[in-house]
Amino acid sequence: MRIANLAGRAALITETGAVDVATASGGRFGPEPHALYAQWAQFRAWAATADPSAAQPYDPALLGAPTPTPVQVLAIGLNYREHAAESGLAVPEGMPPVFTKFVSSLSGPYTTVTLPPGKVDWEVELAVVIGTTATRVAEADAWDHIAGFTIAQDISERALQLSGPAPQFSLGKSHRGFCPLGPWLVTLDEIADPSALRLTSTVDGETVQDGNTRDMIFSVPTLIARLSEVVTLYPGDLILSGTPSGVGMGRNPQRFLAPGETLVSTIEGIGTLEQRFVAQA
Ligand code: ZN
Repeated sequence: MRIANLAGRAALITETGAVDVATASGGRFGPEPHALYAQWAQFRAWAATADPSAAQPYDPALLGAPTPTPVQVLAIGLNYREHAAESGLAVPEGMPPVFTKFVSSLSGPYTTVTLPPGKVDWEVELAVVIGTTATRVAEADAWDHIAGFTIAQDISERALQLSGPAPQFSLGKSHRGFCPLGPWLVTLDEIADPSALRLTSTVDGETVQDGNTRDMIFSVPTLIARLSEVVTLYPGDLILSGTPSGVGMGRNPQRFLAPGETLVSTIEGIGTLEQRFVAQA
């Protein structure tokens, strides 16, 4: 099942278009996308019976973030060995580095992003959306707490991120538009092997990242187990599971996004995000 945020309303995406959840369910679910996660099990049961012939064509430009108002966004640093190496940092043990992207940085999948001053870099990531509350969850039970997967771009301004006596990861990664998400949430039954998903990013058509989730240091179930030892994960919460190698900061010479460039981020079996970058006026 594919669940989208279409102009602020929850929608099921089918082969032929979109089914408005609130209309099709007679007001039982939605219209706000976040409301689905609060009733995830009931919504899944209803959605399995929804009539796909009610689908209408839609404008992809109206797609928003599939979880637009998560209570928490947890982002993982250094979760791929080659990315840790290109960052010049040790592979983490026990608990990976965790930061947030503030919720105001979230956007839909197809956007124009204004470049702030500094060094703006790309990080394609598998994003996990929580479906049921998770507190001290065992790895073996972690999949049961996941609503599905989507794609995130963890756009990062490296000068602010790495400045000062304690690095400013959360702020440097939270400029407006720095967390595009989508194009929809895909439930796990549609993902052939969640631990072997190819993820790529291109800048103006040139492939800059080409990784696979099989190279994660902390798997998705391990992340949920470790994180939920400390925090309670709520329905609709978002976990950005880290980026593979190939970021601009790790290249020689380094490369950062320039006005007029287009970044395309793809995960096999989920879809594609597309961001165009413009100069600050
Ligand atoms: Zn990241």
